Amino acid sequence: MTPVLNPTLLIDRFGRTVDYLRISITDRCDFRCVYCMAEEMTFLPRAHVLSLEEIESLAQAFVELGVKKIRITGGEPLVRKGALELLTQIGHLDGLEELVITTNGSQLETMAPALKAAQVKRINISLDTLDADKFKAITRTGDLSQVLRGIQAAKAEGFDRIKLNAVILKGRNHLEVNELVQFAVDNEIDISFIEEMPLGVVEQHDRADAYYSSAAIKADLEPHFTLIRTLEKTGGPSNYFNVVGTKTRVGFISPHSDNFCSTCNRVRLTVEGRLLLCLGNEHSVDLKAVLREHPGDMALLKQAIIDAMLIKPEKHEFNINEQPVILRYMNMTGG
Ligand code: SAM
Ligand code: SF4
Repeated sequence: MTPVLNPTLLIDRFGRTVDYLRISITDRCDFRCVYCMAEEMTFLPRAHVLSLEEIESLAQAFVELGVKKIRITGGEPLVRKGALELLTQIGHLDGLEELVITTNGSQLETMAPALKAAQVKRINISLDTLDADKFKAITRTGDLSQVLRGIQAAKAEGFDRIKLNAVILKGRNHLEVNELVQFAVDNEIDISFIEEMPLGVVEQHDRADAYYSSAAIKADLEPHFTLIRTLEKTGGPSNYFNVVGTKTRVGFISPHSDNFCSTCNRVRLTVEGRLLLCLGNEHSVDLKAVLREHPGDMALLKQAIIDAMLIKPEKHEFNINEQPVILRYMNMTGG
């Protein structure tokens, strides 16, 4: 007998089930990281950005369609007014198993307790360097000590897991990978290294020259740490290694050197309400238009999401030597 599939589940043409949604709730940020934004950015007018109520309706529709995990990101999600209320609403959606957030850490010192209360389970915090001057140079406006205090505040709340994200660029912070892992070990948290993706036009470096592969990072770490591959996955594209004798796992997100598309289970909602089926392609569906043209019609919204699965591409098309491949910046789509 042929098994009857639940028609509400989100399954694409390649048989992949989508159960993970990332939502960028703002394109704005208090930092201007060199790999993410241009120095002078024009942000979207308010009318183009999804309202908090629209985001909540969309989150509910996705959860009713089988999404189990939602990551709130940005821009810097915690600078959006009303972010905590939104997180609280989403965190209480029936059927959602995990609400997680990616942040630059600048607001965590004050907001960590409220995030815990809002049912946020795990936090990813971006940290590319432990050198205050380099931190300022990479983020253009950030203050390392503020982020370090934010990390301690998050630790004090006892989230299920805290993970650092570090984008490694040759010539900028590639000599710091051991120090960053030691910091994670000392703090009993995880760390993932990310290969830079060619999203948007950046002025300060040539992305092909700055490319530093996951394999190179791993080779740098191996004389100092014993890394054992774990098959554990967190629903994301990281490949994880346990650092033997510690509580820390080191992850590698390698869009260039280790294509992870065959197991892709996620889609992204941009700050403008475009459902993006793949970070490395332009295939998208305008869910804001559906919401605004048919307010309150949950059935229509859900059908638009189900239909969108038909255009999820098989794989991303990043090519580090041909920048910019994708013209949107990471802050629009969320990392
Ligand atoms: N502002 C928050 C933060 O920095 O964590 C959340 C949004 S940020 C866009 C999410 C993640 O994307 C960060 O870890 C950041 O380092 C990463 N990111 C930004 N631009 C990137 C790029 N061009 N390639 C790879 N990762 C990038
Ligand atoms: Fe802001 Fe995060 Fe982009 Fe840095 S990576 S500019 S913190 S959105």
